Parts: sequence; C-alpha cells; structure tokens
Amino acid sequence: MLIDLTGKVAIVTGAGRGIGREIARRFAREGATVVALDIRKAWLEDIAAEWDRNGWPGQQHLCDVTERDMIETAVRTVDEQLGRIDILVNNAGIASGARVEDMDDAVWGMNLDINLSGVMRMCRAVIPVMKRQGAGRILNAASFAAIIPSIGGAAYSASKAGVESLTRVLAGELGPHNITVNAYAPGMIPTEMNHFAERPGPEQERLLDTLTLRRWGTPDDVASLLVFLASDFAGYITGTMVDVSGGKFATQMPWVAHRPPT
Ligand code: NAD
Repeated sequence: MLIDLTGKVAIVTGAGRGIGREIARRFAREGATVVALDIRKAWLEDIAAEWDRNGWPGQQHLCDVTERDMIETAVRTVDEQLGRIDILVNNAGIASGARVEDMDDAVWGMNLDINLSGVMRMCRAVIPVMKRQGAGRILNAASFAAIIPSIGGAAYSASKAGVESLTRVLAGELGPHNITVNAYAPGMIPTEMNHFAERPGPEQERLLDTLTLRRWGTPDDVASLLVFLASDFAGYITGTMVDVSGGKFATQMPWVAHRPPT
C-alpha cells in the first residue's frame, strides 16, 4: 500500500475491463471499498469473484451510464448501504468513428451520450451525497484526443473535449463544497477498445514515434495517477486535466531523440 484509501468508498464506471478494471483493482489494493458499475453482467461477476478471492470489500451493479434511472438506483443503493461516496471515477467510454461527411447520427449520438452525457448524469446523481459529506473527488476520463484530435475521430474527440470543459464547470460549481473535479487524458493504452499493440508492425512504429517515452501506456500507468488524484495528497488540485500519455507530441518530433546517433 503506497497511498492509503482505507475507509473511502469509490464508484468506478465501466469497471468491467480495461483501464477501469485496473483502476478498481488499484483502489481496492489501497484499501477502498470499490463499487464497480458496468453494462456487462459477466464482467461484474468476474469482478465479484476477484474481490472475494482477495478479501476486498465492494459491490457490483449493472449500470448503463446512458440510463438515468439505473444510475440513480445504483447511487441510492450505495448511499443507503455504505453511507458515503468519496470518489467517483467516470471511466466508462466508447470510441467509434467516421469522417464527418460519412457520419451516422447514431454513431455521433452514442459517443456523446456515453462519453460526455454519461459523466454529467453520474455527477448529477453523486453530487448531493458529496455535498452532504462536505468532501469528494470526481475524476473524469478525457483523452489525449481532447488535446489533439484524430482524423475520423470527430465524435470521440468532441465528446472528450466536452469532458474537459464539463470538468472545469463542475470544479467551479463544487469548489465551495470541498469537492475537487479533475480530468485525465490517457494517450495510447492498448486495450480491447483500440488493439494498438496488435496492429501491423509499421503502423505500431509510426504510433510509437509520437511518444516521448516511446512505449505503450498500461492501465496501471493510468491507475497510478488516479490513486494519487483520489488521495488526500491531491487536495489542492482541481479543474485541471492531467496528460498521462508518455509525452505524446511533447515535442514536434519526439522520435528524433530515439534514433541512434549517425
Ligand atoms: P474498454 O473498451 O476496454 O473499457 C470500457 C468499459 O466501459 C467496458 O467495461 C465497457 O463495458 C464499459 N462501458 C461501455 N459503455 C458503457 C455504458 N454505457 N455504461 C457503463 N459502462 C459502459 O476501454 P478502455 O481502453 O479501458 O477505456 C476506458 C476509458 O479511458 C474510456 O473512457 C476511454 O475513452 C478512455 N481512454 C482510453 C484510452 C486508451 O488508449 N485505451 C485513451 C484515452 C482515453
């Protein structure tokens, strides 16, 4: 245990797999009671089994962040049974895309509904509990795409840029209640969402060339940042977005430094 989250109750959306699963695991290792929300029942059952094996306290709820009723039921249950919500991680997200001239309204709408409106709905439900406590931490998954978007990524990038803006508004609204709100921007973390590390070799090389540290990120890299941001050590940080991308485009041509000297 490096940063103690003992006694804290943390809700993690989209905790079923990928980065969210690792965030949930790291929070549990730091002593938090983790409430895992996801749309996949089988993944929630898998979490329940892992938590049981490790003796970690927690709950799992089937909850789609596009459904206000499901969110409110889950949050009410947590509040009634655990009595508090200290940390909310809005991790749930999807990434689907098309160039704007070929954009399907459903694809556009789904990215906005899950990635951006889902964050707003979760916050709306949890804020009264955090206000009552006079404390709370909200952490929102943005993306490097909120900083520099990709061709064909209009729906995803717009949703994530929206998350950054929503984060600042929330930070302002909740500052008087000692609730901090921050976003984080992962770069390229190979998961089922993107399969970065399974792409053809030359394509991987081109992508890695954009990274100052020239390696893929891991869910653990993101979870390490979140454990810190959720902790008492981060009490004076709010309204910001932290880049956790291995220095993607920190310079114009990061690959130059990785080439052998000629
Ligand atoms: P993932 O696809 O592996 O996991 C996403 C999780 O969200 C899944 O468990 C899924 O079931 C859940 N989910 C999807 N729709 C949901 C809904 N409507 N309600 C509740 N849960 C839902 O993706 P990941 O790579 O782990 O990404 C996690 C977050 O990090 C996302 O918000 C993503 O945009 C962001 N992100 C990821 C990367 C990356 O490189 N992997 C980069 C930048 C940002």
